[in-house]
Amino acid sequence: MFQIYCPYCEELREEEEFHPKGEAHIARPLDPEACSDEEWGDYLFFRDNPRGVHHELWVHAVGCRKFFNITRHTVSYEILETYRMGEQPTITAESVSGDLAGRESAATARQEGVRA
Ligand SMILES: [Zn+2]
Repeated sequence: MFQIYCPYCEELREEEEFHPKGEAHIARPLDPEACSDEEWGDYLFFRDNPRGVHHELWVHAVGCRKFFNITRHTVSYEILETYRMGEQPTITAESVSGDLAGRESAATARQEGVRA
């Protein structure tokens, strides 16, 4: 059992209140009619599965019922930050290296963000 920080409720809640909904920041093509079948198929079906920092869409299903984003490390399962819809992550794969020092600095940044 672990807890997830909901950026709308602004508090840590039990993880069983939340559901993952897949990769975050998937933009619908502005002109679907102009897409090739391959481009439309990529939009509908294909998602990144990186080893490391990943941005995910989650919903606080048994709470405020709002969608928000989580930045998570797919190797350690550590949640590096949560942020509201429409916001951009402050922690990205480019800002965090895969070594232990990178994860520790990211965890420190997340904890400071929660306290703020
Ligand atoms: Zn909530």
